[in-house]
Amino acid sequence: MSKRDYYEVLEVNRNASETEIKKAYRKLALKCHPDKNPGDQQAEERFKELSEAYAVLSDSQKRALYDQYGHAGLDQGGGFSSGGFGGTPFEDLFGDIFGDIFGGGGGRRGGGRRGDDLRYNLTIEFNEAAFGLETKIQIPRHQACDTCKGSGARPGTAPQTCQTCSGHGQVRFQQGFFSLTRPCPDCGGEGKRITDPCSECHGSGLTRSQKTLSLKIPAGVESGNRLKLNSEGEPGVQGAPPGDLYVVITVKDHPIFEREGQDIVCEIPISFAQATLGCELEAPTLEGKVNLKIPAGTQSGKTFKLSGKGIPSLQGYGRGDELVVVRVETPTKLTARQKELLEEFSREGGEEVHPMGTSFFDKVKELFG
Ligand SMILES: [Zn+2]
Ligand SMILES: [Zn+2]
Repeated sequence: MSKRDYYEVLEVNRNASETEIKKAYRKLALKCHPDKNPGDQQAEERFKELSEAYAVLSDSQKRALYDQYGHAGLDQGGGFSSGGFGGTPFEDLFGDIFGDIFGGGGGRRGGGRRGDDLRYNLTIEFNEAAFGLETKIQIPRHQACDTCKGSGARPGTAPQTCQTCSGHGQVRFQQGFFSLTRPCPDCGGEGKRITDPCSECHGSGLTRSQKTLSLKIPAGVESGNRLKLNSEGEPGVQGAPPGDLYVVITVKDHPIFEREGQDIVCEIPISFAQATLGCELEAPTLEGKVNLKIPAGTQSGKTFKLSGKGIPSLQGYGRGDELVVVRVETPTKLTARQKELLEEFSREGGEEVHPMGTSFFDKVKELFG
């Protein structure tokens, strides 16, 4: 099934401002919000479509990608997004737009509350980012308490149905034409109250634990990339779905390589003689050394390209280059013999060497008097 154009979905034109997009989304999303159209499959689909379109067009980086490449520009595979939390526009906007109407219940629908998202910061080596990595991480998080099986009530007792909301978790107010629904203040929206709390979890139904997760970091990641692991966040309340886990990647600097997009750059010092006469040297790459021919008469700052020796693309095809910049080093410590030879070399070229100047400075003198 082909996706509809996001601008078409939000009924705005392609150069709509941020405010216009937000306005359009607000208007349309209110109309087909699932809480207003219970059981209406079409409205729910439309709402999802709107949320997705808004998540992209409200993010300038994603919008630019979309404008340039269409849907394909955003599809990086593997649940990867290079900017912004890709996952939950629905949740983000809920508080913002529907908060005043629906009582700020971020995802508080159908009784339970979706678990919180978790963030895990992972620092990896430069080479690991280049070629990908399989690793295990330990995530501290909550899980359902073993003693009370997550109910929060002391074993042998049960949570009591909340009297205030009769177990619905929500209370209704009439205000003018509007009927407002709010989470129940007495049970916090759970619909139940614990009179005899579990001693292990003190009534929360949750205990802290560590979970080990296997991670597959794709080749080509950069600092700031986020890997989303669906449903690996905190557990939801009362059977609601768990949150997601975001692994945020930081890549360490490399001692000799700098990264520029998919290319890597390194600087190699060569001597004046090597630059002048030409030479062959060993250039470092991410995968060991390769021979690099420096032709005679190479100027300082010249760049040599080692094709395909850069960083593989995150999309899984193609690879950047390595750029080797040579710097000619001027010798600072000369033996008497070296000095003698250089002076002779200089005279041979018709150049007069004297301590205070060179031909360049003579030209400057001519120009400025
Ligand atoms: Zn209640
Ligand atoms: Zn417990």
